[in-house]
Amino acid sequence: MDIQAALLREPKAAFSIETVQLDAPRPDEVVVEIVACGLCHTDLSVRDGVIPFPALPNVLGHEGSGVVIAVGSAVSKVAVGDPVALSFASCGACPACEAGTPARCDNFLPANFMGRRADGSCTHHQHGQDINGCFFGQSSFASHALVRERHVVKVPHDVPLELLGPLGCGIQTGAGTILNHLKPQPGSSVVVFGAGAVGLSAVMAARIAGCTTIIAVDVHPARLALARELGATHALHAREDDVLARIKDITGAGADCAVEATGVPEVVAQSIRSVRRGGQVALLGVGRMDAPLPLVLGDLLSGAVIQSVVEGDSVPDSFIPQLIEFYRQGRFPFDRLIQFYDFAQINEAAHDAETGRAIKPVICMPGANRRRP
Ligand SMILES: [Zn+2]
Ligand SMILES: [Zn+2]
Repeated sequence: MDIQAALLREPKAAFSIETVQLDAPRPDEVVVEIVACGLCHTDLSVRDGVIPFPALPNVLGHEGSGVVIAVGSAVSKVAVGDPVALSFASCGACPACEAGTPARCDNFLPANFMGRRADGSCTHHQHGQDINGCFFGQSSFASHALVRERHVVKVPHDVPLELLGPLGCGIQTGAGTILNHLKPQPGSSVVVFGAGAVGLSAVMAARIAGCTTIIAVDVHPARLALARELGATHALHAREDDVLARIKDITGAGADCAVEATGVPEVVAQSIRSVRRGGQVALLGVGRMDAPLPLVLGDLLSGAVIQSVVEGDSVPDSFIPQLIEFYRQGRFPFDRLIQFYDFAQINEAAHDAETGRAIKPVICMPGANRRRP
């Protein structure tokens, strides 16, 4: 079928909206008419070549939500007409997937970044030429996405569908790091470096977990103010405050947990130094993979547990509905992070994400039946 998709033709180029052809669904695939798609930092890292990605042109976008309009012959999880949120891809067959931890899938990188199905075939074409798709198993900067049934999550009808795509990546990454991975004790302290969509989701989740000291660190005063509204008890300016000294003042011996959501080497080092002896550090931020860290051995000998966390260690089928229920109860107001853009404004949305003007841009597809809150 013909669809409209935002193509990335060259590194660092603007997205261009073009007509391309999408395959018919295979037995385990579904076609989703995209209502909206969040723009995540990873889209920009791939666009700019920070995350190496194979051949261009490519269709990016990996926080899609929409309605199922066709299903393959073996699909049983969803039916035509179901509203769904799309999440990251995992193979479903490796030991990590079989153990129910798809975010640790052995095949996470090829499944999400190779641009093709596991058998090497392309899902997108234009004038008979292959176009890379399958970005995070979805390529949702488009009017339609072809997705394995495994990666769609049925969502309730009574929550605005255009809000829900970011639950599939950025928001579950921040919230899941707290609720699925760090699991802080009620009354404990957590410091969150980077108050973007991931960090602010961690702040909201820390409040749900009962943390009583929640410290947000960022360079944007507006984001720090929002962090306070969403549950941070303290907000530190990364450049103007002596961040480590202030964290020690506030917590006594250092934080129980730290969440690093910037990927900036100096901040990664700071996050490791910010926890008490035996504390926990979760590294989420993605920067240049070959960047050296300004650390010394002594920084790593404090008994702290330092672990990188992918996608918040989430099982999207159970975690996305859980987050929606927190949202319904008013405990997880992630809609406050979202700013809507029309599909034609996708490059403006990317620019606003880069400058910090938008925390979580969400691109709305034309023609999709949407209700902006
Ligand atoms: Zn796997
Ligand atoms: Zn993402």
